[in-house]
Amino acid sequence: MFAASTKIFSIFKIIVITNIFLVSIIHAASQNPNPSSDKNDNPKADKDFYQYAFDEAKKGLAEGGIPIGAALVHNGKVLGVGHNKRVQEKSAIKHGETDCIENAGRQKAEVYKQSVLYTTLSPCDMCTGTILLYKIPKVVIGENQNFKGNEELLKSRGVEVVVLQDAETTQMMKKFIEEKPSLWNEDIGEKD
Ligand SMILES: [Zn+2]
Repeated sequence: MFAASTKIFSIFKIIVITNIFLVSIIHAASQNPNPSSDKNDNPKADKDFYQYAFDEAKKGLAEGGIPIGAALVHNGKVLGVGHNKRVQEKSAIKHGETDCIENAGRQKAEVYKQSVLYTTLSPCDMCTGTILLYKIPKVVIGENQNFKGNEELLKSRGVEVVVLQDAETTQMMKKFIEEKPSLWNEDIGEKD
């Protein structure tokens, strides 16, 4: 009698433990089906990481350059930052975004596909092309008041576009364009 009840109790214990195990698996799966997708819905993280791009823009301005900066972030880690080097390096292709992606170095395709690009200004056609080439799924833009790039093309290709309309960024860019219109036109491929 005593042996039988011990056996029943052991079976009961196994059933309870198995259930706890299954419930925790289901709970974990429902909590975090895909850890990399978390990055897409975190406004606070966007603001924090945007600061890296903004700091780069300010650095560019201090160097006498065009104040546009960017940061590439993969699952919460900054892979690289950069800023427009048209003036500093007499570069035709180092915009904030392209300089940043260059500085982030060679990355695997799956890394770009799980990254977010932060940039102070709406990306031009060249930078839009770079974002599409590497299939970067999300772009956070400081402002698009002074210049609006091809955000519609990005969206049409499935890229999530977030525009912060940050007042400080807008003011910095506005002031620069007013003070150095020739440099600005040169950067966006326009005649003076
Ligand atoms: Zn560009």
